[in-house]
Amino acid sequence: MQLSTRIQNILDGGDDGWGVFYKARAMKHAGVDVTELTIGEHDIRTDPSILDAMHKAALGGHTGYADIPGTPTLRDAVAARVEAKSGVPTTRSNVLITPGGQAALFAAHMAACDEGDTALFIDPHYATYPGTVRAVGAKAVSVSARSSEGFQPDLAALGQAAKTAKSLLINTPNNPTGVIYSDASLQGIAEICQHEDLWLISDEVYDSQVWAGAHQSPRALPGMAERTLVVGSMSKSHAMTGSRLGWIVGPEAAIAHLATLAINTNYGVAGFIQDAALFALKQGAGFEAKIAEPFRRRRDAATTLFRGQEAALLIPSGGAMYLMVDIRATGLSGEEFALRLLDEEHIAVMPGESFGRAAAGHIRIAMTIEDDKFQEAVERLIRFAGELALEGEHA
Ligand code: PMP
Repeated sequence: MQLSTRIQNILDGGDDGWGVFYKARAMKHAGVDVTELTIGEHDIRTDPSILDAMHKAALGGHTGYADIPGTPTLRDAVAARVEAKSGVPTTRSNVLITPGGQAALFAAHMAACDEGDTALFIDPHYATYPGTVRAVGAKAVSVSARSSEGFQPDLAALGQAAKTAKSLLINTPNNPTGVIYSDASLQGIAEICQHEDLWLISDEVYDSQVWAGAHQSPRALPGMAERTLVVGSMSKSHAMTGSRLGWIVGPEAAIAHLATLAINTNYGVAGFIQDAALFALKQGAGFEAKIAEPFRRRRDAATTLFRGQEAALLIPSGGAMYLMVDIRATGLSGEEFALRLLDEEHIAVMPGESFGRAAAGHIRIAMTIEDDKFQEAVERLIRFAGELALEGEHA
């Protein structure tokens, strides 16, 4: 039986650059002691107090069909968090609870784009972005950011691409680069969206991992609340990746339609998970800071280690649990470097190429192992890059 072209085209058939990751996993299973700095998952588990709240909610009977757009109390709590962080008045009717940020990304594009519409995103990008756009039947078009510009978006190129687009997806703090968009970038993006009448889909799942100052949401810029769909999640802020709880914040009318979409797709999120998320949000910003703290420490340590290095250049990192490193001075591609690092040093990182063309010649380091081991791995990586660069000079 013939499957729809849409589902067959979610992946575009190109090399997805995840070969290094699968090889590292296979080596691990074969008993090799591989240091994995690949996936964006905390090295701690969900806090027992949150699991306790989940357990109590389930035992208390919240195991039937739950409120599909989200329980009123959880929607209120998300609205309060968003309002406190952004200053934008937000109520429960601006909030839809989703099964994770990924489902929110999909639903937001469903809301913004018709079949065949162009949906923009910025390269380098989180792995699922192009597939998510294609899954809703829209055309995935990326606009490259440049390493030499610290991976800030290229506003001129964006302005040009926006002329024929329906939506723009951005992500700050950014995965994979660890970069925070500057005020000028956000302002420029807001102007482009208004000028070209685009929906802005703002992926803010790393909003609790900002290493200097406060997180800035573009929804707070003048004229943007009515055209912005913010994607949020408990995955990163509360170490709840497996609970699958996220949200979309947007204009009331959009959220009403998205609630209808939820009825006809996932039928909501489990009630006991929503209750656990409510408990977690009530722990406040201090709890979120505690979850983010190890990444801040490791980022600070790595920033010191990379200082003055020439073979491996750290892209100045402002947030999220990743570091992007330019290894072009070694003469290798990101993929070649990552494979050799895995084979020779048993350290696994992601090649930049896994996140789009703009990150070629770079690698992404996930700061997701304990401090001592992380620092040692970074030292070895820096030494390895230095040796490769020397080899290249003498070749
Ligand atoms: N956006 C970005 C940028 C991410 O890195 C991730 C997860 N790695 C997600 C969205 C989705 O997260 P989740 O579905 O777990 O909320």
